[in-house]
Amino acid sequence: MHSYDLEANGMATNLVNLDALIPREDFEEVSPEIKPVLGKKPEGLRLSDLDANRGITYGTLRKPDFQRETASWDPTTVAEFIQSFVAGDLIPSVILWRSPETGNIFVIDGGHRLSALIGWIRDDYGDKEMSVAFFENIIAAEQERAAVRTRSKIKKLVGSYGSLQSAFKYPDNADPEVYRNAKNADFFTIPILWVEGDAKKAEDSFYRINLKAVAIDPTEVRMIKARHKPSALAARAIVRAGTGHQYWAAFPVENQEKIRKQAKSIYDILFVPALETVITTGDLPIAGRSYAGGESLGLVFNFVSIASGLHLEATKKLVKKGRKKKGEVKEDIEADDNDGLPTLTYLGKVYDIAERLSGHEGCSLGSHPAVYFYGITGRFQPTAFLATVGLIQDLAKKKAFDWFTEHRAKFEEFLLRHRHFTNQIVSKFGGQLRSYPSLLKYYQDVLRLIADGRSFTEIELDLAANGFSYLKDRPDYDEETTGSEFSKAVKTLTTLREAIKGAYFCNICHARINQRSISYDHVEEKRKGGKGNPSNAQMVHHYCNGYKDRGGKTISPLPSSL
Ligand SMILES: [Zn+2]
Repeated sequence: MHSYDLEANGMATNLVNLDALIPREDFEEVSPEIKPVLGKKPEGLRLSDLDANRGITYGTLRKPDFQRETASWDPTTVAEFIQSFVAGDLIPSVILWRSPETGNIFVIDGGHRLSALIGWIRDDYGDKEMSVAFFENIIAAEQERAAVRTRSKIKKLVGSYGSLQSAFKYPDNADPEVYRNAKNADFFTIPILWVEGDAKKAEDSFYRINLKAVAIDPTEVRMIKARHKPSALAARAIVRAGTGHQYWAAFPVENQEKIRKQAKSIYDILFVPALETVITTGDLPIAGRSYAGGESLGLVFNFVSIASGLHLEATKKLVKKGRKKKGEVKEDIEADDNDGLPTLTYLGKVYDIAERLSGHEGCSLGSHPAVYFYGITGRFQPTAFLATVGLIQDLAKKKAFDWFTEHRAKFEEFLLRHRHFTNQIVSKFGGQLRSYPSLLKYYQDVLRLIADGRSFTEIELDLAANGFSYLKDRPDYDEETTGSEFSKAVKTLTTLREAIKGAYFCNICHARINQRSISYDHVEEKRKGGKGNPSNAQMVHHYCNGYKDRGGKTISPLPSSL
């Protein structure tokens, strides 16, 4: 059974990005008036229809602008699909709608199937001409690896499209099997089901097919419905560093430029360096993987909701209505963005928090990713990321960063020694916004208790008495294994353990520093005659550097008896 029946296979990594191959267009650019169509529509698409050099259909293909990224298939699925097509296997119908107004053909269902064939025709599996232009040369390492793997699998299974074309031209010199494949590929069709009616009808079909059939993350549904709101626009801009489909193309040019620039700088703080499948370094992106289809988009969308205060607004509104449901955001509290300014406001708020988390300006706390954002299983933890955002926001509101700096090392030590608590909170309430309030409260409680001078044992007891009785102390996590070889997970865990042990420490607050966010401080201040020689230099957090300059009180290192 091929997974392309479902258009998605749920794998988070190793996915082929075919998003560039069919351009997006807004349904609403089309007038709703229906003109009677007398001509008979084709019942199937031939491969030549999809070849820009041979057919006319390719140039008219579009996908709805809110369609999620075409990046849910792995290399094997893409290669096996092309093999099935060439072998004349029964391919599930694609569902298309032809705009009576523009004559463009929208793909309602089947974006992956058609993009896989187009990718084959153009030899572009997310790394060649169209993709490079679409992503403006920002091709993630994983995206490139998946493309290379796909190309080599297809070559083995079917042959490249180019080799089939030259078999047609020079049949005498061709490998008989390749020649047969070439003839097959040009003969078979992909069956089409046409949606009849206006743009509204087509959009309804889209929802019916795409939002119900496949397990789509509720965040993604929210994003589709909020697609003209600044929160969704900001999230889409960030996750692609301002490249890809320009959802903001209708805004004034100078605002478009600002959106792209701001999105790129946020992207660089959140997603650089790219996260490898096996972690071999403590140099990690603070927001995990940028390339996981809807997953990172959902995280960024939630980040935008929290940063912009939308999340709180939504909760307040729900509480008022008597529908107290934690972690739910209602879309109707946001107006559509018509000129880009609301999107820029949101991006500004997100930038401030990202910069605070681990940027390069004076306000940066240089948070170590392995302390805050990667869990006991070695995986990136979206909820921990969001709760840290919430904590930062709270500290900013109370202007309490100096206070945080004084207690930071002990706070982080508590988090590290109780990493299973974070996992337990997330497994109790669910991912992202569902456990966000509880995890944020946990951070705030621990920080307050540490500032009150409580010992770790006292804090555990206090937490248990105040809503966290379900947290169970347990011995250090060990990945369960039966074989004698080290799995990817085990290698990752080992790296993280050593990265935490071997991290750089700030010489002012004594907490760990993200190696991407180091500030060098004069031990003896310049104004007091301190020189620029190595013995007078120390590594600190950017924030701590300013803290010391402002005369912040001296913080003692953690006692070894903790
Ligand atoms: Zn520090």
